[in-house]
Amino acid sequence: MSSFIEGYKHRGMRRELVQLLYRKGIREERVLRAMETVPRHAFMDSAFVEHAYQDKAFQIGEGQTISQPYTVAFQTELLELKPGMKVLEIGTGSGYQCAVLVAMGAQVYSIEYNEVLHKRAKVVLSKLKYSASLFCGDGSEGLSAHAPFERILVTAGAPSVPQSLLEQLQIGGKLVIPVGDRNRQEMLLVEKDQEGKIRHKAYNYFSFVPLLGESGWAKV
Ligand code: SAM
Repeated sequence: MSSFIEGYKHRGMRRELVQLLYRKGIREERVLRAMETVPRHAFMDSAFVEHAYQDKAFQIGEGQTISQPYTVAFQTELLELKPGMKVLEIGTGSGYQCAVLVAMGAQVYSIEYNEVLHKRAKVVLSKLKYSASLFCGDGSEGLSAHAPFERILVTAGAPSVPQSLLEQLQIGGKLVIPVGDRNRQEMLLVEKDQEGKIRHKAYNYFSFVPLLGESGWAKV
């Protein structure tokens, strides 16, 4: 059960979290402001409310996690998002990252493989009035019916960059995706320039749950 109670204590803890993210190197003001407003505790089981504003990943059930706030901030900053942009998120999970994107003014499409998590995120996002288009299914191949996207954000670790995601990326678009083995992935920023050429830039290593499905890992 999520807790939708919001008070000065939560706001204070969020402000401290955002200050920590700044000290860790996150500089984009709009990312920091969005993370200062989204109530992360509402996306977690109420048993974890006291820990919601620690810079840690937490279990959300179904063997999945809500990403560490620093990871959310890092990926979001790499997107260089502008209000009104059409964004695909792969791996809705708790819905928290989706809410951060919506809070930044993006038009968000988010897909989740696990039906229980999809349904739960739908309820939480709607209760908190974060409006996004939510889908349940294998997002490792993107969401071709709604392509192209100006930004694509993958929040699970992929074995490689799926070709279909490159195809669904708009000219001038950016894709942020962790790529590596099942335990450790390098954060990649993939850009499609005006001629349609693809460029990669690699950042730090992170540890995500695996991207499953057709262009992901096999379920074990
Ligand atoms: N963005 C989420 C949040 O804010 O809570 C955290 C995502 S969690 C680290 C990764 C999510 O990706 C899990 O919920 C998992 O079920 C989902 N996932 C894994 N493979 C997927 C696939 N092929 N398509 C869509 N979602 C997938």
